[in-house]
Amino acid sequence: MGDANEPSKATASCSIFKAPDGKVNGSEFEILGPEYYEARLSKTAKARKPSPVWDLFPVETQPGMLSMLAGKPNPMTFPFKAITLTVRGQNDEAPVDLVIQGDELVTGLQYSLTSGIPALRIWLTELMKKVHSRTGAEGWRVSIGSGSQDLLYKAFAAFLNPGDTILIESPTYPGILIILEALDCHVVQVMSDSEGLSPTVLEDVLSKWDSNQPFPKVLYTVPFGSNPTGATTNEARRIEILNLARKYDFVIFEDDPYGFLYYGPSPKPGSYFELEKRIRGTVGHVLRFDSFSKLISAGIRIGWITGPTRVVQAIELHSVSSTVQPASTGQAMLLKLVHHWGIQGFLDHTIQVAEFYRRKRDYFDACLHHYLSSVAEWSRPEASMFFWLKLNLPPITSSIDQDDEDSSVDSESFIRRIAIDRGILFLPGNTAYIDGRRTACVRASFSCLSEEEMEEAVKRLGDALREQWDI
Ligand code: PMP
Repeated sequence: MGDANEPSKATASCSIFKAPDGKVNGSEFEILGPEYYEARLSKTAKARKPSPVWDLFPVETQPGMLSMLAGKPNPMTFPFKAITLTVRGQNDEAPVDLVIQGDELVTGLQYSLTSGIPALRIWLTELMKKVHSRTGAEGWRVSIGSGSQDLLYKAFAAFLNPGDTILIESPTYPGILIILEALDCHVVQVMSDSEGLSPTVLEDVLSKWDSNQPFPKVLYTVPFGSNPTGATTNEARRIEILNLARKYDFVIFEDDPYGFLYYGPSPKPGSYFELEKRIRGTVGHVLRFDSFSKLISAGIRIGWITGPTRVVQAIELHSVSSTVQPASTGQAMLLKLVHHWGIQGFLDHTIQVAEFYRRKRDYFDACLHHYLSSVAEWSRPEASMFFWLKLNLPPITSSIDQDDEDSSVDSESFIRRIAIDRGILFLPGNTAYIDGRRTACVRASFSCLSEEEMEEAVKRLGDALREQWDI
């Protein structure tokens, strides 16, 4: 247990390093050093100290070491002989049995490191290098967590003191709003549109910043197939947003569980993590969050973080005192699977999953055109599993004086009063705003319905909406 506590290797006194050769792919770049993040970490994150014996745990793995260090249970007392995974064959091949036994089984049943089973972390590091065209020599590392939600929570806690400011793309993933509310920080919404986060809106917010308000340290965004809007931010916008991160000096939390589920036109936009290296300037403004949930299994609860070493260490130090480590058993299963597939096999799998959702997206979109064209508006997602539907609802007369364009209609009351009775359910749009504003929008997740069910659901919604207007 506990490599979390590796001290920072970098010892330079300034906060920006020149890259080893100063150039990669013809672009010049500089790497933000650990001091840069040290100055931005929350008081609690800074107060988390490594265990005084942090350095002894890796020694345990030295060949020939007779370790009496850790309070590990003896695996001979565990009742399992083997775990057999029967994996669906790729491209219509027959299923394959993968058997986890011997040392692999012990790894999966025993305590492991806070950052995850080393072999899985190595595999993920290689994946990140390949997918995002990064090398390992740029002050970043990967660490595994109990789902990306766990890592997001710890990352917000690592940066934000009560009263600090954070920028969030809005509407946003409701799962982070509950974190931010509990951290008691000042949340500034940056309104997105059908093409995702807008650099123009962002710069407007930043350039008019009230100097009495703490300046934001972090921008949170879901760049591909955003939850809840389904919108994907195009590459030109991403580059402008990265330039704003450098100009105004904030870190981008790139929450990307849907990046592998992109089925839009080629070329696929580069990730922030990739682009920050591709364009000239400083590297280290991006902290990425990935997840196996939408690709392999949600219940296995494995996600990973990729980003500046000092920040990743701060998150691991949090885990040392909470979850200790992500569960070994799920990691051992994933490791067996990805070693069987290899990186290319994994990428092929993600292409198939994305194609599965693209077909569902097309069918759902066709149903929307057929049944909802006069009673709702929407944009077609290019990734993930969500449509953000703006319903044409009659205004609530008692609240018509509110100034927001959607505030006189309320999709939550429509869902509770009408939709549920019709046997259809959506996520009310107000849950995606920190101020809980009333809105005409709902998030429709099309992932789990069959074609017949999609058609029936959309037909019921169309009927219910038309009845609201007596048409
Ligand atoms: N971020 C976003 C945008 C999500 O949609 C989700 C899951 N719904 C998560 C994070 C959390 O994912 P995980 O299952 O890896 O915790």
